[in-house]
Amino acid sequence: MTLPFESGIRVTSPFGARRDPFTGALSEHTGIDLVPLREGDLAVRAAVSGSVLQSRMVTDPMNRTSEWGNYVSFLGDDGRVYYHCHLASRAVSQGERIAEGQALGVAGQTGRATGVHLHFEIREGGVPIDPSAFLGVGNITGAEKSPAPRMWYDEAAAWALDSGILRGTGDGLALNEPCTRGMTVVFLHRLWELLHRT
Ligand SMILES: [Zn+2]
Repeated sequence: MTLPFESGIRVTSPFGARRDPFTGALSEHTGIDLVPLREGDLAVRAAVSGSVLQSRMVTDPMNRTSEWGNYVSFLGDDGRVYYHCHLASRAVSQGERIAEGQALGVAGQTGRATGVHLHFEIREGGVPIDPSAFLGVGNITGAEKSPAPRMWYDEAAAWALDSGILRGTGDGLALNEPCTRGMTVVFLHRLWELLHRT
């Protein structure tokens, strides 16, 4: 296993429950935020060998992955999926075969980020796991005690689907027309509550 930064890593935000850096609301951090130990060591390296799933930047604000800015995800040969978000630039393409330690891009601050850092996420069977043990930074959060709850987006979407305000599934959600002013107000209010829940 190769650490994302050559000089080593420092954790700036652990996996698990935290205060959202933008809204202050309690939320679930599905990855771990890292900076390099040596300033300027911003090349992000692949932890294991694998194949690139996505190398892109989503700009549609309705798509939650737009929060990731420039990101690279790959399917590791160990069966896990690795995510690297907020990159300044990307160095690999979708479908490309990558070796362990290969440069995936340069860490940056694209998307929803308050500073230059790497959001590093590992999923097993689609479920985010705490990367701290994997990275050798110890159990700094105890987060494995609780499974990652659903993100506010999923919760809001599930509610809006149940209410008939949205239709579709997953990333294919759309407003169920006609959507009255009353329904829209209720939807926005519910979103507001979810965003500010503590
Ligand atoms: Zn993060």
